[in-house]
Formats: sequence, structure tokens, C-alpha cells
Amino acid sequence: MIVVMEPQATEADIAAVIAHLRKLGFGIHLSRGVERTIIGAIGDKKVLDGDSLEAMRGVEKIVPILQPFKLAGKEFHPERSQVKVGPVTLGGSDVVVIAGPCSVESREQIMETAGVVKAAGATMLRGGAFKPRTSPYSFQGLEEEGLKFLAEAREETGLPVVTEVVNPKDVEMVAGYADMLQIGARNMQNFTLLREAGRTMKPVLLKRGLAATVEEWLMAAEYILSEGNYQVVLCERGIRTYETATRNTLDLSAVPLAHELSHLPVIVDPSHGTGKWRLVSPMSLAAVAAGADGLIIEVHPRPQEALSDGGQSLTPANFESLMSRLTAVASAVGRKL
Ligand code: PEP
Ligand code: MN
Repeated sequence: MIVVMEPQATEADIAAVIAHLRKLGFGIHLSRGVERTIIGAIGDKKVLDGDSLEAMRGVEKIVPILQPFKLAGKEFHPERSQVKVGPVTLGGSDVVVIAGPCSVESREQIMETAGVVKAAGATMLRGGAFKPRTSPYSFQGLEEEGLKFLAEAREETGLPVVTEVVNPKDVEMVAGYADMLQIGARNMQNFTLLREAGRTMKPVLLKRGLAATVEEWLMAAEYILSEGNYQVVLCERGIRTYETATRNTLDLSAVPLAHELSHLPVIVDPSHGTGKWRLVSPMSLAAVAAGADGLIIEVHPRPQEALSDGGQSLTPANFESLMSRLTAVASAVGRKL
């Protein structure tokens, strides 16, 4: 349930209500809006029978949360959330473009790519050091060495870094290097990993699972939020359908839908969403038109030499040309790049 406080409720009123709820065994999640404060109380409502909560000073009303995603939903947090990753804000007026290679392959490759995407206007760097590959014989990533190269690329360019973590026991180590943790599509329902990522209090980029409904995706976000980490960004990256002409079917309707159901920022990955570099630019433009708060795009200096996902990676020249076209679409929907 949520306890909606009156606009004139004082800090002391809010603290008293929180203390009362805690005594009754509720977990507390606070949402401070411009107008009023909402206290999310997770626990067994039955203990409130005969209780005086509703009569406490500053309490306007008590409302049950009907959606299963209590903290990710709009009922608990009606205003859009913003997630800060270093100097970058996701969910604000700017469309955030995150770009970089699928995998960190060498120090030279990540430094070169970071320089190129920054020059073209990207404000965050991506790159996988732990790769969840379909085949155990494919390149698995440089692991901690790759994280060191990413950190060096951040020092050089100032771009905050997002990178995937695949194993709960590596979360702390990866969080030591990265500015944002990525939970990949294959791990969207790895609940131990979600909880660990929640405990770090680092921003988390949560990809939609290959066959996940929007509700399952928001419930996965709920695992991270329920640890007290509200810095979660949702990422639509395509789902598995009967269509085989593209790697996945990019579900752009999930962007306005997720915005309708949740306060969390939503970004789109047109690279994994299509699997084809020629489709990446048109789908990026469409994603921004549909209201996406950002894009995550694979860029490689020489896609034909990439150790993973070369076929869906943009060349620096194609990325640069996409960025200039994105500016026009962003301004048409009242956003900036
Ligand atoms: C990735 O971003 O490199 C990746 C593996 O993405 P996904 O989890 O969406 O397949
Ligand atoms: Mn990839």
C-alpha cells in the first residue's frame, strides 16, 4: 500500500509515520514528489486492522497498490524518474546515446572506439568484458582486463561506462570499475543477480528478456528496486518471435507502454533488436520518435574484424551520420540530443 502525505505534512510527520509502519513490520520506500511525499509500505496489510495510521498527523490517505510491480509502477511514483550516471541524466529532456563495441577486444580497440563515439556526440560508452555467448566456443570477453581498459577509456574521454555483469559473485568487482551495471537479456530473471545488483546502489541497465512480457520485465526491475536501489533504466532490445529475417523483433510499442506503467526511464537497443546494421539507424530514429529516453548502439571501428556482433555494428561514419539525423527527430518530439 501507499501512504499519501498531505502537501503541508512536515518532516516530523513523515518520520513519525515511517517509524510507526516500521514498528508494524513494513518495509519502507520513500518517494518525494514536487507536491507531496508518498510512503510505500510493503508488508502484510492485515496488521493495520484497528490501527490508527489513517488518523496520524499529515496522513491524507492510504491506498492499496494494485499493480504487482509495487515500486516500479506509477501508483507508487507518479512522476517520471531520472537516473544519474556520472554527469549524464537518463529520463530528463536529453536523449542519451550510449555507444561502443559489443565486446572490449583490446586496449587499442576500446580507446579508438571511445574517441570516435565521443566525437560523434555519444555521452556514454558501452563495451562487454563478460560476454554471455550462445556458444561456449565463441569469444567470452577479456573479463577483468577488459574492465580495466574500459575504466581507462573513461579517464581518457570522460564518458561514463556501462558494462554487463553475468555472475552474482562478480557484481562487486564489476561495480568497482563501471558507472552502470548492465543485466543482459539472458539474465533478466536471474533473481540472485538482480538482488546483488540492487545491493550495490549503482545505476542498473535492465535489458528485457528474450521472451519476457512487459510485466515480467517490470517485476525483474522490482527485484532491484526492492533492495532500495531506485537507479534502474529499462532497455527494450527485441524479443523472440516467429520472424527469422531479423535477429529479434524490436518491440517499440514497449516504450510508450513501459512509460505508461512505470516511472523508470526506458531506452532502446536497436543493434540486438534487429541484428542488422542497416536497420539500426531507421529503428533508432523510430525509437526516439516513440519516446525512448535513450539508445544503446554497437559501434566498431572495423565491424568486419569484430570478435562479436560485427554484422549489427555501425562503422564510425554510419554512427556519425545517424547522430546528425537523430538530432532532428529528437527536436520534433521536444527532446534534445
Ligand atoms: C549486449 O548488450 O552486448 C548484449 C549481450 O545484449 P542482450 O543481453 O540484449 O543480448
Ligand atoms: Mn552484442
